[in-house]
Amino acid sequence: MTLTIPFDNSYARLPAAFYARQSPEPVRAPRLVAFNDDLAQVLGISPGDAQDMAQVFAGNTVPDGAEPLAQLYSGHQFGTYNPQLGDGRAVLLGEVVGTDWIRRDIQLKGSGRTPFSRQGDGRAWLGPVLREYVVSEAMHALGIPTTRALAAVETGEVVLREGPMPGAVLTRVAQSHLRVGTFQVFAARGQIADLRRLTDYAIARHYPDVTGPMGLLRAVRDAQAALIAQWMAVGFIHGVMNTDNCAISGETIDYGPCAFMDSYHPNTVYSSIDRMGRYAYSNQPEIAVWNLAQLATALIQQIEDRQAAVEEATEIVHAMPDLLQQHWLLRFRAKIGPTTEEYGDLALISDLLTRMAQNQADFTNTFHALGGDAARDQFTDPTAFDSWAEGWRARLTREADPLAVMRAANPAFIPRNHRIEQMIQAAVQGDYAPFHRLNAVLARPYDDQPDAADLRRPPTQDEVVHATFCGT
Ligand code: AMP
Ligand code: MG
Repeated sequence: MTLTIPFDNSYARLPAAFYARQSPEPVRAPRLVAFNDDLAQVLGISPGDAQDMAQVFAGNTVPDGAEPLAQLYSGHQFGTYNPQLGDGRAVLLGEVVGTDWIRRDIQLKGSGRTPFSRQGDGRAWLGPVLREYVVSEAMHALGIPTTRALAAVETGEVVLREGPMPGAVLTRVAQSHLRVGTFQVFAARGQIADLRRLTDYAIARHYPDVTGPMGLLRAVRDAQAALIAQWMAVGFIHGVMNTDNCAISGETIDYGPCAFMDSYHPNTVYSSIDRMGRYAYSNQPEIAVWNLAQLATALIQQIEDRQAAVEEATEIVHAMPDLLQQHWLLRFRAKIGPTTEEYGDLALISDLLTRMAQNQADFTNTFHALGGDAARDQFTDPTAFDSWAEGWRARLTREADPLAVMRAANPAFIPRNHRIEQMIQAAVQGDYAPFHRLNAVLARPYDDQPDAADLRRPPTQDEVVHATFCGT
């Protein structure tokens, strides 16, 4: 069997200003360590033998139909505008239209230097590659829009980070890699024809029912508001919500220093580079609005009647906090059971969260246990739960089937950070069993899987991971 990827490329047809043609840089001794058969099927890709696939997904062989390129973009990183970023360690091989008729990018990440590499080596090490593989696939299984992982390859080369690390390449699949930063780079440079072309391309690819830059802005706002509420509802902290990591498609993108919370606290930060806590858990909605404002600023550069455009864009952006709140309330209401709306719901949810924070309650396990009788055990002072639960039980008497609602809203399994770290340490030693086990269990996050009870346990003191690194 030979690997065949039915490429149908559109980005490579866009003006040359959008990218630099760039082949992946070959590596010494590629070895395929993961391949996502289910995803391959959706994409219409027929797998080949492991040797062939290792060559292709390492970038040593450019498959028929691929037109490799590095995309140009810029972006605000931690609030500061960086006029040129771009794919510094990734190449887009091309696109495929899946059996579901959705067009998706196939990108190699860690595939060597490009014209946008700046000081970087263009490479990735095994840790972040496996982290992104596991976490992005877990997000997908949780029902959250996300880029996905098709393959992971060890390169047989050493990458220098905190020390010498094994190199790896991830094959990332996304509905596109268009970001807020893709618009920013053309707007900032005054390349208005390119900005218009990009706007039309993004609309045709992602939101064919909308018209014009403001239609696009509204659509991205709606997608991002829904997405961020879903992150909040599973305790996900993205870690680097820079505008270059904010996808126009509304998918979660760029799993660098991300993590799921163990014990609940709104100010939780995991990323070692986020010293100010800009991207802390509870700041994420506000940052999403800030990022949308940057997209608005870029988009209006193409509109002749600037005054009217500014007014309309302002109105669109200012409506986002309310939208976020509505999505948030819908998600968290389901987590405690109700589907109907009552005035006191927001206060009831907020009260629970406050008590969880005061009692170091595990975010995932507390919500999951609401469907049983063990939720109080998650609290250092269980009576803090009991006094909340009185009002909650009274509220549930007016609901048809709150248990089923809670089961569907509260996963048993999330990719816990200490398990990811343990998985990476094992893989570095050549043991991929924890990686495969994590993937298998996290593929069914809402099913109680008694054999995997150890993966539901929060970290012990020794296991706590205090910071996650970019691994760049
Ligand atoms: P990220 O933190 O992954 O969102 O990356 C931010 C920017 O840095 C992007 O332009 C990346 O392509 C670039 N970058 C990150 N790591 C590397 C690397 N090892 N080599 C070259 N460029 C990199
Ligand atoms: Mg990025």
